[in-house]
Amino acid sequence: MKTFEGFYRNLHSFPELSGQEERTSTTAAEYLNSLDFEVHTHIGGYGVAGVFRNGDGPTVLLRADMDALPMEEETGVPYASTRVMKDRNGVERPVAHACGHDFHVTALVAAASLLHSAKSEWSGTLVCVFQPSEELNGAKGMIEDGLYEKIPKPDVVLAQHVLKMRAGTVSVKSGRLLTAADAFDVM
Ligand SMILES: [Zn+2]
Repeated sequence: MKTFEGFYRNLHSFPELSGQEERTSTTAAEYLNSLDFEVHTHIGGYGVAGVFRNGDGPTVLLRADMDALPMEEETGVPYASTRVMKDRNGVERPVAHACGHDFHVTALVAAASLLHSAKSEWSGTLVCVFQPSEELNGAKGMIEDGLYEKIPKPDVVLAQHVLKMRAGTVSVKSGRLLTAADAFDVM
């Protein structure tokens, strides 16, 4: 079975702040291109949407956010981030994937790979969206930049976020969960 550990470590060691996800979005777009998705880039900044049409059926949108946080990584892992970037105020900040969005990107790329390789087992349309700037309302930016004119309107949208749970488990819940985050600067 294909593993994505190297893909994850690569993203983890190269985090990018909200609105500056150039390398992460390019990595995601390249992967979707390699699977023959129809790929749209630069939607609402560095947003990426990939469409895979696989016959009649529902359109399912899977979404991953991509941005990292202005925090110093102290995990000590060999692939820890040592990066520094200028934030939107021009201040140099250490950057780390402290919220797990590197994992979200990896999980979505892996889901795209799995669903592509199992395409004879299902039919419908798969849309994979890599959203920039989650910490600063990047979803709205993608919609305002015409996301739904570029991709078919989904029947269902599934998002994801890592949580502190027992390793190896996955949980689901319908309706709202983990919504209504806000960001502010203390100067
Ligand atoms: Zn997060």
